[in-house]
Amino acid sequence: MADSSGNKVALVIGGTRGIGAAISRRLAADGCAVAMVHLSRSEEAAHLAADIAANGARALVLCADVSDPDALAASIDRTMEQFGRIDILVNNAGLAITGAIAGYSLDDFERVFAVNVRAPFLASQQVAATMGDGGRIITIGSIVADRMPGPGGTLYAASKAALGGLTRGLARDLGHRGITVNLVQPGPTDTERNPANGPAAAANRTPLAISRHGKPDEVAALVAYLASEAAGFVTGATFNIDGGWSA
Ligand code: NDP
Repeated sequence: MADSSGNKVALVIGGTRGIGAAISRRLAADGCAVAMVHLSRSEEAAHLAADIAANGARALVLCADVSDPDALAASIDRTMEQFGRIDILVNNAGLAITGAIAGYSLDDFERVFAVNVRAPFLASQQVAATMGDGGRIITIGSIVADRMPGPGGTLYAASKAALGGLTRGLARDLGHRGITVNLVQPGPTDTERNPANGPAAAANRTPLAISRHGKPDEVAALVAYLASEAAGFVTGATFNIDGGWSA
């Protein structure tokens, strides 16, 4: 699989930290030019882009809040201007607002769905309009879409569960062009928002068969496979990478 994405252009939304950064690095290592959309941490994004460029791949950093449809659209337009096409779209940015059901505001609902559902929908719609045959759309959901081990995650889980329908619908809509659409559902993965040594980490690992946090690189390896030519017959599928959370 090492260079099967060679000479392709990848757009990774939420591609500069955590799982998204690992995906950007991996797709760049596989030969892609990589555009990475991020929210606000520009210094870290620039550092990652410089690192990717130093390793010989083209990298573009775009700052946009993808809960804003205009900002999202502009970042896709910029990628097209810079690289001429998008072959691989990775919808990775996500927002978790957690708490007791009584405490959620309407604004919480709108914000979570704007980032976790509307942005992947709009990005897929816009990118698919120009994507060539054989393109790839991969969305990062969460294993809580299928199995919720405790209270407090209703809104996040509901938003991530919507991605299964989005994925299957898009797979049907785009299959005749050889574009594949797949969903990756990680379990606890060691990032800043869910550190393996954080206060909630041990509890988070309770449902696992393999009792450790996943590594962003492990998720990136699965995404790289789905992005590759080798995965051309894989579409409309959901892949759990969850240490057995759902076993
Ligand atoms: P984060 O959720 O911290 O995401 C970091 C990346 O997303 C950064 O590049 C960040 O930009 C960008 N981002 C966040 N919000 C926006 C926004 N509104 N607009 C544009 N970019 C945005 O990192 P994780 O790696 O933990 O999670 C990645 C994905 O994996 C999410 O969808 C999450 O729900 C999912 N997931 C994570 C799990 C985990 O245990 N970590 C488990 C299951 C699923 P900036 O750096 O500028 O802030």
